[in-house]
Amino acid sequence: MFWDRETETLQRTALEALQLKRLQATVRRVAKKVPLYQQRFAAAGLKPRHIQTLADVRRLPFTASADLRANYPNGMLAVSIDELLRLHTSSGTTGKPKALFFSRKDVDNAAELVARCLVMTGVTRKDVLQNMMTYGLFTGALVMHYGAEKVGCLVIPAGPGNSERQLLLMQDFRTTVLHVTPSYALYFADFLEKHGVNPRKDLALRKAFVGAEPYTEETCRKIEQALGLDVYNSYGLSEMSGPGVAFECEHKHGMHLWEDNYLLEIIDPQTGEPLPDGQPGELVLTTLCREAMPLLRYRTRDITSIIPGRCPCGRTHRRLNRITGRSDDMLIVRGVNIYPQQIERVLMSLPQVGRNYLIQLEGLDEMLIRVELAKTGFDGQVEHLVHLQSQIGDRLRTELLVKPRVELVPPGTLPVSEGKARRVIDNRTL
Ligand code: ADP
Ligand code: ZN
Repeated sequence: MFWDRETETLQRTALEALQLKRLQATVRRVAKKVPLYQQRFAAAGLKPRHIQTLADVRRLPFTASADLRANYPNGMLAVSIDELLRLHTSSGTTGKPKALFFSRKDVDNAAELVARCLVMTGVTRKDVLQNMMTYGLFTGALVMHYGAEKVGCLVIPAGPGNSERQLLLMQDFRTTVLHVTPSYALYFADFLEKHGVNPRKDLALRKAFVGAEPYTEETCRKIEQALGLDVYNSYGLSEMSGPGVAFECEHKHGMHLWEDNYLLEIIDPQTGEPLPDGQPGELVLTTLCREAMPLLRYRTRDITSIIPGRCPCGRTHRRLNRITGRSDDMLIVRGVNIYPQQIERVLMSLPQVGRNYLIQLEGLDEMLIRVELAKTGFDGQVEHLVHLQSQIGDRLRTELLVKPRVELVPPGTLPVSEGKARRVIDNRTL
């Protein structure tokens, strides 16, 4: 099923011609309106007419998240204040937030892209979507909300947390689709188990759109099994209008990125040089349709790769692999580079392991990993626990090349957050 069949299946040559036209228009607009880009163009001796082909995008300056903070609150605007309709900020917890503005066209367009995503997974107006993301300044909930309304779903603006109420809503209104973070999905699965609810029998759930933070294939499978539904990976970021940037189709093999709206590059995060399809690197996006706040070559810091080849669904927009982490997520422990996702992959592949874990760095470079047991993970025999603990330690050493200390804790004892999960605590005294 398609929401906008023509655009979604546009032949590559037509799609690229459209991208070039939109890129040129965007460059002309920011050259006229946005001081940051005016300065950078001047410094590089760059004029809008120099952008003649899509490959010329490489002549444009990068935009970093620090640029958005430095120009807070409205230094990046390309329209006047009276043309603005909505403000969001990023959920970043450090320093000044980033302010993201939407014009009327931007608000509508964001919903349009979400509508494409939902219909691509088979959602129809008969569906009931329970939106378990945080409503407010964060783009996650509102942008999904308006997109689902566009499709004609019944939308339940539940927000996160309060699992009793979530369950009640699911039962009473026969919710079919969830929009949720992976960490809350896992937590909620535990809650159902504790309350003796069998989602396959007692609920009408069919799909979950899971995103807003990185998660592994193993976690995806755990959520699918525990909630009895299909998980679709949903990728977005506030700087690019929130959810609806890239989404899995019915084939669930990579996320189609809407290339008529975003120009996509994968670069080597160290050198800034482009990488060939299939090779993992940092995702860089240029907005092609944004009115209020166009961004050139925005460094997402998200690590992914392009899946080469065509998708059987018929869409021509290229697919991204699962995001394996952010370039700034990397931990350096005793000189070794470690991504939290590597740890999650090991933990979630073990059935005795529950649904939450915490990485604690302490002292002079010690890594402690606290792991919740599954409810059925402990049969009362201490030697089994000792065995599991050393098994986890060994597998982590093989994966990471550093052996962390592992501590097993009872189910439900590690802190859970309602918004984005906090998986790493760094208390090192280096
Ligand atoms: P912040 O950067 O403050 O966390 P956002 O709320 O805009 O702000 O979060 C966007 C980020 O969330 C992305 O850049 C990415 O790192 C992460 N993210 C979103 N969706 C996914 C997903 N499906 N898989 C992995 N990471 C995701
Ligand atoms: Zn597809």
